[in-house]
Amino acid sequence: MSREPRVTVWNEFRHEQANPKVAEIYPRGIHEALAGPLRAVGLEVATATLDEPEHGLDRRRLDATDVLVWWGHRAHDEVADEIVQRVRQRVLDGMGLVALHSAHFSKIFKTLMGTGCDLKWREAGERERLWVVDPTHPIVAGLPEQIVIEHEEMYGEHFDIPPPDELFLVSWFRGGEVFRSGCTWRRGQGRIAYLRPGHETYPTYHNAQIQMLILNAVRWAAPVGAATPRRGNQQPQEELG
Ligand code: ZN
Repeated sequence: MSREPRVTVWNEFRHEQANPKVAEIYPRGIHEALAGPLRAVGLEVATATLDEPEHGLDRRRLDATDVLVWWGHRAHDEVADEIVQRVRQRVLDGMGLVALHSAHFSKIFKTLMGTGCDLKWREAGERERLWVVDPTHPIVAGLPEQIVIEHEEMYGEHFDIPPPDELFLVSWFRGGEVFRSGCTWRRGQGRIAYLRPGHETYPTYHNAQIQMLILNAVRWAAPVGAATPRRGNQQPQEELG
């Protein structure tokens, strides 16, 4: 698509209200921290949170969304199945989805993947090195060959996902584990990107390189503007004689 994608950033928005440490890092919520850098480059960004009616994802909002960014963690089960189905259908119809960090266990990500999506984890504030393993991928455009985050939660393999269409980032953690941190898939007409970093007790979303990664992922996930395929019984395109 030639114009910039219209983005909705969805955030559970619970840790920020319950944990002063998280509130100090993200005083206006993780959603505003994610939305700010996208707005700064001119994108139209709305936000939506779990405790709004319909989790802020009514049909009008979703219809006006080209790419949905998702951050959730402790309240995945509170996301209504009806809303998950609505988001899933929008993805199949072409809306992009960028799933961040603990969104690996969100209902919407799990339903689109069809696997358990579980992984290893450890919260020890250890160093993470995200290595670019596909320098041709547009989501790593403008980034160095590795992004170093001094303090992050560890996520380790095996990550129970279907083999990604594309893998562009692999993380190494000081404790020894590795993880597929930047992956993409196609589902229906929609594009899905997963980006690992972003545990709520670390200021990861204030990191300019992570902000660039998210901006690139949003642009990559945007609908390309192709015609909606017709399905079902068809008349022949030419005389069959
Ligand atoms: Zn986490």
